[in-house]
Amino acid sequence: MPDIRFEEELRGLQLEGLKWTVKHAYQGSHYYRMKFDEAGVKPQDISSPDDLSKLPFTVADDLREGYPFPLRSVPFERIVRIHASSGTTGKRKVFCYTQKDIDDWADMFARCYEMAGLTQEDRVQIAVGYGVWTAGVGFQLGCEKFGALVIPAGPGNLDMQCQFLEDFQSTVLCCTASMGLLMAEEIERRGLRDRINLSKIIYGSERSSDAMRKRIIELSGVEGMFDIPGLTELYGPGTGLECPKHEGIHYWADYYILEILDPETLEPVPEGETGEMVVTTLRKEAAPLIRYRTRDLTRIIPHRCSCGNILPMHDRLLGRSDDMFIFRAVNIYPGQIDHILSGFPEVGSEFQVILDRGADGRDYMTIKVERREEGDPSGDVPLGGRIEEAIKKQVLVSGKVEIVNYSGLPRSERKSKRVFDNR
Ligand code: ZN
Repeated sequence: MPDIRFEEELRGLQLEGLKWTVKHAYQGSHYYRMKFDEAGVKPQDISSPDDLSKLPFTVADDLREGYPFPLRSVPFERIVRIHASSGTTGKRKVFCYTQKDIDDWADMFARCYEMAGLTQEDRVQIAVGYGVWTAGVGFQLGCEKFGALVIPAGPGNLDMQCQFLEDFQSTVLCCTASMGLLMAEEIERRGLRDRINLSKIIYGSERSSDAMRKRIIELSGVEGMFDIPGLTELYGPGTGLECPKHEGIHYWADYYILEILDPETLEPVPEGETGEMVVTTLRKEAAPLIRYRTRDLTRIIPHRCSCGNILPMHDRLLGRSDDMFIFRAVNIYPGQIDHILSGFPEVGSEFQVILDRGADGRDYMTIKVERREEGDPSGDVPLGGRIEEAIKKQVLVSGKVEIVNYSGLPRSERKSKRVFDNR
């Protein structure tokens, strides 16, 4: 059974990496040494994978305290680069990289292109931001390492993007999901389908619904779309990739340990249930992460993937733990509602959840969702009923579904507010 051997090997590799990371951080970082001393843990206390739970958590506030070089665990002469998140509130999160960190990141990213089925013949148009953030340079580094041709287009500029697709015959487009939709609409509007050679889209950095993916595939004619997770704290994009069979996101468990914890109790959730992603790096030198709370929610997909790859899988991101709300004693994430609505082609991707307290003292939930642009309002009542049933079955609570006209809900370029709690 080669799989069992692989799992044992992986566990061995993880333990070795964990021990190295804890020792390295304790010796190299004032911050980690202080945290470990406070928690009463020493590097020599880590001797089995279960000892991970003895280690203290690292949270976003810790990064702000250490600004501008938080978690730095090597001397400056070994640091070759920094990257920062495009954070909108407070200070940016800044991370240092050694040359080995950069090389490891490129290796991980090259693995993504390989998993997406690219060859060295592919031409990869990288339409994400270049600059201090990790996107552009990460996509490029991995692609060059893999050996395909890079077209470093940068974001926006649809005219130029379309021209590049046509002139350079790009086969792969890397972008955000929103940019993917804009490009797909442009391809359709300009009638470019027969003149371009685009077959794959690798997209990341925001959540996307199944409805949006379907629309992009329909309009652009690509054969595959691949969700790529990316977190500045954890190198950047490229730490995993959606499986070619689309059963989940394979993640590189030989570079980091992923725990899925209940955001309230910080205990592991039962396998397969939704919780917060907490990551511990195994090889990162300049700014290692030890039990870093990402606030992103997902679940482990417990079964072995049919694509044949034996690396573990997590689901797409279901939202942020900060967005969780409690309704009739059940923890609910907007992403769960989003996911259910995606199963109904008759409705669009915009929705709102409204929570009220009734005169009887009980809580009530109303979900407003938009009818598809070409949808027929006469079907609203039975459709609403079917969605209500699906919610009851999957989230185990009852809510009232109200179908509203297309464009009836407000849109924002960034993140839309989904939950309105009037209780
Ligand atoms: Zn797979």
